[in-house]
Amino acid sequence: MNDPYLNAQSQLRSVAKLIKADEEIINKLSIPDKLLTLSLPVRMDNGSIRTFIAYRSQHNNSRGPYKGGIRYHHLVNEAEVKALSMWMSWKCAIADIPYGGGKGGIIVDPRELSAAELERLSRAYVRAIAHDIGPDLDVPAPDVNTTPQIMDWMLDEYIKVSGNKSKATFTGKSVDNGGSLGRTEATGYGGVYVMEELLKAEKVKKDNLTIAIQGIGNVGYYFASLAHKNGHKIVAISDSKGGIYNAKGIDPKLALEFKQKEGRLSGMEGTKIIGNEQLLELKVDVLVPSALENVINADNADKIKARYIIEMANGPITPEADEILFSKKILSVPDVLANSGGVTVSYFEWYQNIHNEKWSKEEVLKKLKDNITRAFKQTYSKRKELGVNMRMAAYALAVAKVIEAFKKQEL
Ligand code: GLU
Repeated sequence: MNDPYLNAQSQLRSVAKLIKADEEIINKLSIPDKLLTLSLPVRMDNGSIRTFIAYRSQHNNSRGPYKGGIRYHHLVNEAEVKALSMWMSWKCAIADIPYGGGKGGIIVDPRELSAAELERLSRAYVRAIAHDIGPDLDVPAPDVNTTPQIMDWMLDEYIKVSGNKSKATFTGKSVDNGGSLGRTEATGYGGVYVMEELLKAEKVKKDNLTIAIQGIGNVGYYFASLAHKNGHKIVAISDSKGGIYNAKGIDPKLALEFKQKEGRLSGMEGTKIIGNEQLLELKVDVLVPSALENVINADNADKIKARYIIEMANGPITPEADEILFSKKILSVPDVLANSGGVTVSYFEWYQNIHNEKWSKEEVLKKLKDNITRAFKQTYSKRKELGVNMRMAAYALAVAKVIEAFKKQEL
């Protein structure tokens, strides 16, 4: 089953049973509060008009404003944004930050647009959702293929349209424009903090730990760079076109430089070419899917040989695959915990904007590390207590928190 929304609903149903949740509340939580479907006319550089389809899904705001990124990808669809918005609700609850869940997306391959077209598209998106966002209402951020520059354009447009000058409507902005130091690294670094805690908890000897990372976007790259700095061996890394392998280890900085120069990873000195599917099936200590959904599914779960998985992408493992991995005793740290570093530092950014503060990078990363370590420990012990996988343990904690907040509202 590779429909991410059905997967998200099925995960919710499983945890509802586990925590004996009220069925009607679960019915409510399995559907987003609101889904905006938009058609955006954009003037292209050659004078023609192109219409883009876009979404914003607001899943639940019982714990605070809707929060979540905006994705630019040609495969964006309604089911995906709905699922991603639900996962954000659980992620913010696990991270213990005062937000609900939201997510947006535009069906576009941003590589096909000029910078000016991308700017006009981003501004058109904000004009279409302006009434539904704001620092206390819904706070968007970057996601796949969206950048601090795009957040800056969006905030500028929002200020123009709404007259609300607060910078806290968007997070993940550039540092000169109210962005937080450490936000760019936050998701990747947060994943490494979680991995180090996991290794400690599992008493894994750390010398020569091997890691394979699928994806070298913002998240995969910063994960790789801190893991490399911590002395681990990145034996494989990939982008959407394919990957490279070197049993002796790859320096992620050199790999990124090579990719930026050559437009691809294949051909980097000392490395062998491998496919993205092959990368997932390598015999490594830690596998880090760091790209898109459903890459580990019923078809390949049986072939996974890693001991541990750190889910840096959102939704990379389907529910069927989860069961197979559990029976193979492969321990996977779920997305809602492993990649929660990004939204956690988004919260720090929002907080700094509202209180007119500027924190140092050290302070931001220290707070992030403390917070994600706490969330990991809580989930790890919940897993032992319930005898379930880490996803169900994380969900048990998160969904219970959202339900508690939901019940406090007057209906
Ligand atoms: N897009 C990121 C995520 O999936 C970050 C969201 C945010 O910072 O609001 O968690």
